[in-house]
Amino acid sequence: MYVDLHCHSHYSDGAQTPEYLVSAAFERGLSHLALTDHDCLCGIEQLWRNAPEDANLADKPGWRELNLIAGVEISCDWNGLEIHVVGLLRELNSPALVTLLSEQQHQRRQRAAAIAAKLDAIGVSGASDYLAALPATALTRSHIADFLVESGTCKNKQKAFKSHLGRRGKAYVAAKWASLDQAVNAIQATGGIAVLAHPSRYPLTRSKLSRLIGDFSAAGGEAMEVSYANLDPIAKKRLLELASEHSLFYSCGSDFHTLDSQWTALGKYPRLEPSAIKNAIWEHPRWHSIVSAGRSVYAPPSQDSES
Ligand code: AMP
Ligand code: MN
Ligand code: MN
Ligand code: MN
Repeated sequence: MYVDLHCHSHYSDGAQTPEYLVSAAFERGLSHLALTDHDCLCGIEQLWRNAPEDANLADKPGWRELNLIAGVEISCDWNGLEIHVVGLLRELNSPALVTLLSEQQHQRRQRAAAIAAKLDAIGVSGASDYLAALPATALTRSHIADFLVESGTCKNKQKAFKSHLGRRGKAYVAAKWASLDQAVNAIQATGGIAVLAHPSRYPLTRSKLSRLIGDFSAAGGEAMEVSYANLDPIAKKRLLELASEHSLFYSCGSDFHTLDSQWTALGKYPRLEPSAIKNAIWEHPRWHSIVSAGRSVYAPPSQDSES
């Protein structure tokens, strides 16, 4: 079992196509991949649409199977803080989820337009045209940070967030995100599992983080990420403790966005220790129904295994 349950394509703020992610997943030897674009499903819809009907692996000695799980990463508001909830979904056409995501995408378009207007007002023009030319269905501040770097306004993305796009930035605009309850309910309505994303990345004290996890669990959240890129061993141990205290299953994923980042690659995160496997998300009672509702894609034996 080698899963990556958190990554992005160019339909949100990733740089790559969904098809690229599939080939990278094969290269890495993953067994399960969940594409979890911000507030949109078009990447996974495309992969599912183009996945072959069931292939009989018995006819294909040495061929490898990759399970494609439908996923999404929903931005939520929790007491004024932006929290991300990953959904591992059983189906794509559930009305509650479709309605919620279309509202989130609307919020994203409105916020992007408002940020572009603020940039215009301080003499940085061209953001709207830049955004309009992107393949993204979910517009993010990450795209606008790219624009600020490419237009020579900011040195790098970190600086673009600090000076322009972050809470104290010149062009900051808040968005009205779904509540934790709304996001978790919409995920569960598909038969899916709600996963609290990258808990150590929120600007929260230990006790506030514990309160967030309690609220997430009370809303019906059933899992949380305990392993992802750039997580140090002490933080990981703390997350395992918090997840256990709140009886949440453990999820893992790279949060891969782009090849430009030296720190992330698809499938790259500290693997769960054998003692943690009993609480891994693939032990969740609905895991198999989620995987079997997904699609599989296949690849011939790799060069290495032939030799
Ligand atoms: P949004 O969901 O529109 O607020 O955009 C947030 C996205 O921007 C996140 O998912 C990250 O991929 C990216 N991001 C957030 N903060 C930073 C940062 N300081 N530097 C680079 N990328 C960031
Ligand atoms: Mn992102
Ligand atoms: Mn996130
Ligand atoms: Mn993410």
